[in-house]
Amino acid sequence: MTSSKTHEAGDAIYIEARRLMVEEIRAMAEETVGYGAGPISERVLAAMAAVPRHRFVPDEERYAAYDNHPLPIGYGQTISQPYIVALMTDLLRLNKDDTVLEVGTGCGYQTAILSELAGEVYSIEIVEPLARHAAGLLRELGYANVEVKAGDGHAGWIEHAPYDGIIVTAAPDQVPQALIDQLKPGGRLAIPVGEGWFAQELILITKDKDGISHSKNILPVRFVPLTGGD
Ligand code: SAH
Repeated sequence: MTSSKTHEAGDAIYIEARRLMVEEIRAMAEETVGYGAGPISERVLAAMAAVPRHRFVPDEERYAAYDNHPLPIGYGQTISQPYIVALMTDLLRLNKDDTVLEVGTGCGYQTAILSELAGEVYSIEIVEPLARHAAGLLRELGYANVEVKAGDGHAGWIEHAPYDGIIVTAAPDQVPQALIDQLKPGGRLAIPVGEGWFAQELILITKDKDGISHSKNILPVRFVPLTGGD
Protein backbone atom coordinates (compact mmCIF):
# COMPACT_ATOMS: atom_id res chain seq x y z
CA MET A 1 0.00 0.00 0.00
CA THR A 2 1.20 3.49 -0.79
CA SER A 3 1.11 6.19 1.86
CA SER A 4 -1.67 8.06 0.05
CA LYS A 5 -3.90 4.95 0.19
CA THR A 6 -3.24 4.57 3.90
CA HIS A 7 -4.01 8.22 4.46
CA GLU A 8 -7.24 8.14 2.46
CA ALA A 9 -8.49 5.07 4.28
CA GLY A 10 -7.45 6.50 7.63
CA ASP A 11 -10.37 8.76 8.50
CA ALA A 12 -12.05 7.43 11.67
CA ILE A 13 -15.67 8.22 10.72
CA TYR A 14 -15.28 6.53 7.37
CA ILE A 15 -13.51 3.50 8.84
CA GLU A 16 -16.48 2.92 11.15
CA ALA A 17 -18.97 3.46 8.30
CA ARG A 18 -17.09 0.91 6.20
CA ARG A 19 -17.07 -1.60 9.07
CA LEU A 20 -20.87 -1.32 9.32
CA MET A 21 -21.19 -1.65 5.53
CA VAL A 22 -19.13 -4.84 5.61
CA GLU A 23 -21.33 -6.28 8.38
CA GLU A 24 -24.40 -5.53 6.27
CA ILE A 25 -22.83 -7.25 3.25
CA ARG A 26 -21.99 -10.26 5.37
CA ALA A 27 -25.59 -10.48 6.63
CA MET A 28 -27.01 -10.06 3.13
CA ALA A 29 -24.74 -12.81 1.79
CA GLU A 30 -26.16 -15.17 4.41
CA GLU A 31 -29.71 -14.38 3.23
CA THR A 32 -28.86 -15.18 -0.40
CA VAL A 33 -27.23 -18.55 0.26
CA GLY A 34 -30.38 -20.24 -1.10
CA TYR A 35 -29.61 -18.78 -4.53
CA GLY A 36 -26.43 -19.50 -6.50
CA ALA A 37 -24.50 -17.15 -4.20
CA GLY A 38 -22.76 -18.11 -0.98
CA PRO A 39 -20.88 -16.44 1.86
CA ILE A 40 -18.34 -13.84 0.76
CA SER A 41 -14.67 -14.52 1.47
CA GLU A 42 -12.85 -12.60 4.21
CA ARG A 43 -10.32 -11.45 1.62
CA VAL A 44 -13.01 -9.68 -0.41
CA LEU A 45 -14.61 -8.23 2.74
CA ALA A 46 -11.19 -6.87 3.79
CA ALA A 47 -10.91 -5.09 0.43
CA MET A 48 -14.41 -3.64 0.92
CA ALA A 49 -13.27 -2.41 4.36
CA ALA A 50 -10.18 -0.77 2.86
CA VAL A 51 -11.40 1.17 -0.20
CA PRO A 52 -12.62 4.75 0.53
CA ARG A 53 -16.00 4.52 -1.25
CA HIS A 54 -16.84 8.12 -0.25
CA ARG A 55 -14.15 9.31 -2.66
CA PHE A 56 -15.87 7.61 -5.61
CA VAL A 57 -19.31 9.23 -5.22
CA PRO A 58 -20.21 12.84 -6.09
CA ASP A 59 -19.80 15.26 -3.13
CA GLU A 60 -23.56 15.62 -2.68
CA GLU A 61 -23.89 11.81 -2.27
CA ARG A 62 -21.02 11.47 0.21
CA TYR A 63 -23.31 11.22 3.25
CA ALA A 64 -24.77 8.04 1.75
CA ALA A 65 -21.49 6.57 0.46
CA TYR A 66 -21.56 3.59 2.82
CA ASP A 67 -25.27 2.75 2.54
CA ASN A 68 -25.86 -0.60 0.90
CA HIS A 69 -27.46 0.68 -2.30
CA PRO A 70 -26.47 2.15 -5.67
CA LEU A 71 -26.01 5.94 -6.08
CA PRO A 72 -26.07 8.23 -9.15
CA ILE A 73 -22.66 9.30 -10.50
CA GLY A 74 -23.82 11.46 -13.45
CA TYR A 75 -24.24 10.67 -17.18
CA GLY A 76 -27.28 8.52 -16.22
CA GLN A 77 -24.90 5.98 -14.62
CA THR A 78 -24.56 4.62 -11.09
CA ILE A 79 -22.07 3.28 -8.58
CA SER A 80 -23.17 -0.30 -7.89
CA GLN A 81 -24.63 -1.53 -4.60
CA PRO A 82 -21.78 -2.57 -2.24
CA TYR A 83 -23.23 -6.05 -1.73
CA ILE A 84 -23.30 -6.67 -5.49
CA VAL A 85 -19.71 -5.40 -5.85
CA ALA A 86 -18.63 -7.82 -3.10
CA LEU A 87 -20.59 -10.71 -4.57
CA MET A 88 -19.31 -10.26 -8.12
CA THR A 89 -15.74 -9.84 -6.91
CA ASP A 90 -16.07 -12.96 -4.79
CA LEU A 91 -17.30 -14.98 -7.79
CA LEU A 92 -13.97 -14.29 -9.56
CA ARG A 93 -11.91 -15.97 -6.75
CA LEU A 94 -8.98 -13.67 -7.48
CA ASN A 95 -5.38 -14.37 -6.56
CA LYS A 96 -2.88 -11.59 -6.08
CA ASP A 97 -1.02 -12.26 -9.32
CA ASP A 98 -4.17 -12.52 -11.49
CA THR A 99 -4.89 -10.33 -14.50
CA VAL A 100 -8.43 -8.98 -14.54
CA LEU A 101 -10.59 -7.17 -17.07
CA GLU A 102 -13.48 -4.95 -15.99
CA VAL A 103 -16.07 -3.67 -18.47
CA GLY A 104 -17.92 -0.61 -17.12
CA THR A 105 -15.45 1.40 -15.00
CA GLY A 106 -18.02 4.05 -14.06
CA CYS A 107 -16.58 5.92 -11.07
CA GLY A 108 -13.83 3.31 -10.59
CA TYR A 109 -14.98 1.91 -7.23
CA GLN A 110 -15.17 -1.72 -8.36
CA THR A 111 -11.82 -1.18 -10.12
CA ALA A 112 -10.24 -0.19 -6.78
CA ILE A 113 -11.62 -3.31 -5.10
CA LEU A 114 -10.14 -5.45 -7.90
CA SER A 115 -6.84 -3.56 -7.55
CA GLU A 116 -6.62 -4.61 -3.90
CA LEU A 117 -7.03 -8.28 -4.80
CA ALA A 118 -5.38 -8.88 -8.20
CA GLY A 119 -2.04 -8.30 -9.91
CA GLU A 120 -3.11 -6.22 -12.89
CA VAL A 121 -6.47 -4.61 -13.58
CA TYR A 122 -7.62 -3.36 -16.98
CA SER A 123 -10.89 -1.46 -17.11
CA ILE A 124 -12.92 -0.09 -20.04
CA GLU A 125 -15.56 2.66 -19.84
CA ILE A 126 -17.64 3.80 -22.81
CA VAL A 127 -18.42 7.30 -21.42
CA GLU A 128 -15.16 9.15 -22.02
CA PRO A 129 -15.40 11.74 -19.18
CA LEU A 130 -16.17 8.95 -16.68
CA ALA A 131 -13.12 6.99 -17.89
CA ARG A 132 -10.93 10.07 -17.54
CA HIS A 133 -12.24 10.92 -14.08
CA ALA A 134 -11.90 7.35 -12.79
CA ALA A 135 -8.34 7.03 -14.14
CA GLY A 136 -7.32 10.27 -12.39
CA LEU A 137 -8.96 9.36 -9.09
CA LEU A 138 -7.48 5.84 -9.02
CA ARG A 139 -4.05 7.32 -9.68
CA GLU A 140 -4.53 9.95 -6.95
CA LEU A 141 -5.57 7.27 -4.44
CA GLY A 142 -2.49 5.16 -5.21
CA TYR A 143 -4.08 2.26 -7.15
CA ALA A 144 -1.03 1.78 -9.31
CA ASN A 145 -1.77 -1.63 -10.86
CA VAL A 146 -4.77 -0.28 -12.81
CA GLU A 147 -5.15 0.91 -16.39
CA VAL A 148 -8.38 2.53 -17.58
CA LYS A 149 -9.32 3.26 -21.18
CA ALA A 150 -12.32 4.82 -22.89
CA GLY A 151 -13.99 2.44 -25.33
CA ASP A 152 -16.61 -0.21 -25.95
CA GLY A 153 -16.06 -3.28 -23.80
CA HIS A 154 -17.97 -5.61 -26.16
CA ALA A 155 -14.65 -6.38 -27.85
CA GLY A 156 -12.77 -6.92 -24.57
CA TRP A 157 -9.16 -5.67 -24.44
CA ILE A 158 -7.15 -8.02 -26.60
CA GLU A 159 -3.69 -6.54 -25.82
CA HIS A 160 -3.75 -7.83 -22.24
CA ALA A 161 -5.73 -11.05 -22.81
CA PRO A 162 -6.18 -13.77 -21.73
CA TYR A 163 -7.65 -12.94 -18.32
CA ASP A 164 -7.98 -14.92 -15.11
CA GLY A 165 -11.14 -12.98 -14.35
CA ILE A 166 -13.55 -10.73 -16.25
CA ILE A 167 -16.27 -8.66 -14.61
CA VAL A 168 -18.96 -6.77 -16.51
CA THR A 169 -20.93 -4.17 -14.57
CA ALA A 170 -23.55 -3.28 -17.19
CA ALA A 171 -26.05 -5.72 -18.71
CA PRO A 172 -25.99 -6.94 -22.34
CA ASP A 173 -28.80 -9.05 -23.85
CA GLN A 174 -26.29 -11.82 -24.48
CA VAL A 175 -22.76 -12.52 -23.27
CA PRO A 176 -20.32 -10.96 -25.82
CA GLN A 177 -18.32 -13.79 -27.42
CA ALA A 178 -15.06 -11.78 -27.31
CA LEU A 179 -15.18 -11.82 -23.51
CA ILE A 180 -15.52 -15.60 -23.39
CA ASP A 181 -12.68 -15.88 -25.94
CA GLN A 182 -10.41 -13.67 -23.79
CA LEU A 183 -10.87 -15.82 -20.68
CA LYS A 184 -8.02 -18.19 -19.70
CA PRO A 185 -8.74 -21.87 -19.20
CA GLY A 186 -9.67 -21.95 -15.50
CA GLY A 187 -10.83 -18.31 -15.76
CA ARG A 188 -14.11 -16.87 -14.46
CA LEU A 189 -16.48 -14.27 -15.93
CA ALA A 190 -19.20 -12.57 -13.86
CA ILE A 191 -21.81 -10.73 -15.94
CA PRO A 192 -25.42 -9.56 -15.65
CA VAL A 193 -27.45 -10.65 -18.68
CA GLY A 194 -30.96 -9.81 -19.85
CA GLU A 195 -33.20 -7.24 -21.47
CA GLY A 196 -34.70 -4.43 -19.41
CA TRP A 197 -34.61 -3.73 -15.68
CA PHE A 198 -36.68 -6.63 -14.47
CA ALA A 199 -35.34 -9.60 -16.39
CA GLN A 200 -31.63 -9.60 -15.66
CA GLU A 201 -29.75 -12.48 -14.12
CA LEU A 202 -26.21 -12.42 -12.75
CA ILE A 203 -24.34 -15.24 -14.49
CA LEU A 204 -21.01 -16.88 -13.70
CA ILE A 205 -19.20 -18.41 -16.66
CA THR A 206 -16.25 -20.66 -15.93
CA LYS A 207 -13.89 -21.94 -18.59
CA ASP A 208 -12.51 -25.39 -17.81
CA LYS A 209 -8.99 -26.66 -18.55
CA ASP A 210 -10.14 -27.95 -21.96
CA GLY A 211 -11.43 -24.48 -22.85
CA ILE A 212 -15.11 -25.42 -22.52
CA SER A 213 -17.38 -22.80 -20.91
CA HIS A 214 -19.98 -23.56 -18.27
CA SER A 215 -22.66 -21.12 -17.17
CA LYS A 216 -24.40 -20.84 -13.81
CA ASN A 217 -27.21 -18.49 -12.76
CA ILE A 218 -26.42 -16.72 -9.51
CA LEU A 219 -29.10 -14.13 -8.70
CA PRO A 220 -31.66 -11.78 -10.28
CA VAL A 221 -30.02 -8.32 -10.52
CA ARG A 222 -30.61 -4.84 -11.90
CA PHE A 223 -27.83 -3.08 -13.87
CA VAL A 224 -27.70 -0.24 -16.39
CA PRO A 225 -27.61 -1.59 -19.99
CA LEU A 226 -24.34 -2.38 -21.76
CA THR A 227 -24.46 0.12 -24.61
CA GLY A 228 -22.48 0.10 -27.88
CA GLY A 229 -21.82 -3.24 -29.52
CA ASP A 230 -22.47 -2.17 -33.10
N1 SAH B 1 -18.17 -0.63 -11.95
C1 SAH B 1 -18.98 0.52 -11.55
C2 SAH B 1 -20.37 0.40 -12.08
C3 SAH B 1 -20.62 1.43 -13.11
S1 SAH B 1 -22.21 1.36 -13.87
C4 SAH B 1 -18.93 0.68 -10.05
O1 SAH B 1 -17.94 0.35 -9.44
O2 SAH B 1 -19.86 1.17 -9.45
C5 SAH B 1 -21.79 0.65 -15.44
C6 SAH B 1 -20.90 1.44 -16.33
O3 SAH B 1 -20.79 0.71 -17.56
C7 SAH B 1 -21.40 2.82 -16.72
O4 SAH B 1 -20.45 3.78 -16.35
C8 SAH B 1 -21.55 2.76 -18.24
O5 SAH B 1 -21.22 3.94 -18.90
C9 SAH B 1 -20.59 1.64 -18.60
N2 SAH B 1 -20.84 0.98 -19.89
C10 SAH B 1 -22.01 0.72 -20.49
N3 SAH B 1 -21.84 0.10 -21.67
C11 SAH B 1 -20.48 -0.06 -21.81
C12 SAH B 1 -19.66 -0.64 -22.84
N4 SAH B 1 -20.16 -1.19 -23.95
N5 SAH B 1 -18.32 -0.64 -22.65
C13 SAH B 1 -17.77 -0.08 -21.54
N6 SAH B 1 -18.49 0.48 -20.55
C14 SAH B 1 -19.84 0.49 -20.68
